[in-house]
Amino acid sequence: MKIAVIGSTHAGTAAVKNMADLYPEAEVTVYERNDNVSFLSCGLALYVGGVVEDPQGLFYSSPEQLKSLGVTMKMQHDVENIDTINKTITAKNLVTGKTFEDSYDKLVMTTGSWPVTPPIEGIDLENILLAKNYNQANTIIERSKDARHVTVVGAGYIGVELVEAFEKAGKKVTLIDGADRILNKYLDQEFTTLVEEDFQSRGITLAMNETVQRFYGADGRVQKVITNESEIETDLVIMCVGFRPSTDLLKGKVDMLDNGAIKVDEYMRTSHPDILAAGDCCAVKYNPTGGHAYIPLATNAVRMGTLAARNLMEPVQKHVGTQGTSGLHIYDLNMASTGLTETSAKLLDVHVKSFTIEDFHRPGFMPTSEKVMLKVTINPETREILGAQVISKADVTQSINTMSVCIQTGMTIDELAYTDFFFQPHFNQPWNFLNKAGLEAQRQEPVRSPQFV
Ligand SMILES: Cc1cc2nc3c(=O)[nH]c(=O)nc-3n(C[C@H](O)[C@H](O)[C@H](O)COP(=O)(O)OP(=O)(O)OC[C@H]3O[C@@H](n4cnc5c(N)ncnc54)[C@H](O)[C@@H]3O)c2cc1C
Repeated sequence: MKIAVIGSTHAGTAAVKNMADLYPEAEVTVYERNDNVSFLSCGLALYVGGVVEDPQGLFYSSPEQLKSLGVTMKMQHDVENIDTINKTITAKNLVTGKTFEDSYDKLVMTTGSWPVTPPIEGIDLENILLAKNYNQANTIIERSKDARHVTVVGAGYIGVELVEAFEKAGKKVTLIDGADRILNKYLDQEFTTLVEEDFQSRGITLAMNETVQRFYGADGRVQKVITNESEIETDLVIMCVGFRPSTDLLKGKVDMLDNGAIKVDEYMRTSHPDILAAGDCCAVKYNPTGGHAYIPLATNAVRMGTLAARNLMEPVQKHVGTQGTSGLHIYDLNMASTGLTETSAKLLDVHVKSFTIEDFHRPGFMPTSEKVMLKVTINPETREILGAQVISKADVTQSINTMSVCIQTGMTIDELAYTDFFFQPHFNQPWNFLNKAGLEAQRQEPVRSPQFV
């Protein structure tokens, strides 16, 4: 059995490690265009900000480690074509320039995603950079050394983390987004306002509701960002406006969403019987709606990569789907979200009802006690939980992992009100704030006995 894997960051590395274990007789070959595997992009802003000093800590595997498992590692090899009928791939050795063909019995597509670069005039100027892989992280560090004013375009979690890193490094920072607020895909407005106020109090300029029209430069280097509202003088621009699945190789050959994300079933099988796919190149089952969604996260990638390996020969283990659970630490604030926010529900045309509570994370008699804001979103007809968001200076983000399980298992807000959580004054209150969200929902929208409905 010949297994080809294209791409080896999170999904690919997870798939390969499991395959080496599960199918020791198989001939596994990895094609990876980079010279490294398993780079943790999640540490990129920490690396740029100097919190992570040794970049080797950002890798949890290596080509040598995968080789030692019996895998053939074709590093710095770019796959240029896949012939799904004859089951061959064409790859180019990027060092020698030589192109060759190889056959496979099973193909695992883990080609991930690439940052979106909108066709804006001047985008090719030097010092307009992307933030995804290890080489790009090093370029950002190198180019930001002499930069006084850094502009970040895109106020998702990557843009926001970079803003903090640059501000802490003493740069003047501007954050641009076409939306009216930061982090609008992850948190509702009452949460993002707290982060925006924090940013502004530190002198960070927020250019919300602004879209970049043009980059202006001289001697090939960017000098100004021109938006529909303003002109911003700058020495360095980081583009963080989202990701596009890297799936051109299979275009027209397997089913995809409109954005090019490969559709896989719960066993990671594509519409082609011998091709499985995992990670950022795929759409994933989104439990709050039951449909496919594009949620490029390392968490989804490692799970899907593992499942692609387990289900390679026969379907044995189903994917339970995702809630798109994510967390963020910005300055002193810890925040996390899972499932639908009110904003995302509106965009998806899903009718929801939300309940917000404000509490303290532990009793007032403790030396410190931090405010917590929690918002839970439900389906008002079934009362099932569809989403939750939390923010606090205390790290209560694990509560959102609990809420993720609640969504995955179809728990109602009423069951949440009386779920058993421990109490210990160091950590929390006798009524856990998750219980309190359930109680608040029952206060606002009392449960009716079925015979009176
Ligand atoms: C700055 C940043 C911060 C992030 N923080 C978090 C976080 O905190 N938590 C979280 O869960 N997620 C985070 N993510 C998202 C996470 O990094 C991605 O979801 C994850 O990298 C996806 O892994 P993947 O293996 O599916 O794809 P990718 O990481 O995109 O890897 C795909 C691999 O395929 C290779 N490849 C592609 N095409 C070819 C080809 N034709 N031939 C050969 N090789 C090919 C690429 O070189 C690459 O190595 C972050 C992302 C970024 C950029």
